Amino acid sequence: MPTPLVLELIRQLLNKPATNCFPVKYYPGQTTVTELINKVQDGEVEINSPVEVPEEFRGKIAYDKESCIGCKLCIRVCPSRAIEFLPEEKKIKIRIDRCIFCSQCNDVCPTNSLSMSEDFLLANEDRLDKDMIVK
Ligand code: SF4
Ligand code: SF4
Repeated sequence: MPTPLVLELIRQLLNKPATNCFPVKYYPGQTTVTELINKVQDGEVEINSPVEVPEEFRGKIAYDKESCIGCKLCIRVCPSRAIEFLPEEKKIKIRIDRCIFCSQCNDVCPTNSLSMSEDFLLANEDRLDKDMIVK
């Protein structure tokens, strides 16, 4: 009679891994991360796709500027002060480097102008890079 531990071991062996080797399966030797990124961009190294994200995953915020009415409710509920008001446009801008992905701004927005996307590849050396600002 197999013990629960053995059964669990067999179950784990047969399960698909929850993670994968990202961004590449085999890291080319003697290569810095920057060189690796350049090789990927030049098509010399194929990127290993990330795993699918689960339903209701909270990735980078998406903002529908057109439907935003500038009510500032999202700014009031944001615990990390990631959202700034743009008075001249009566719209907002979100700093991804400050966001903690709590989704409170999404929940409070009366026009559903905010949503959490599936984008989680957010590493960046420059916190004020255009990819780190949503507006
Ligand atoms: S998800 Fe949370 S932390 Fe990020 S901008 Fe919205 S309220 Fe702020
Ligand atoms: S809560 Fe929604 S409508 Fe109001 S300012 Fe924020 S994004 Fe715009």
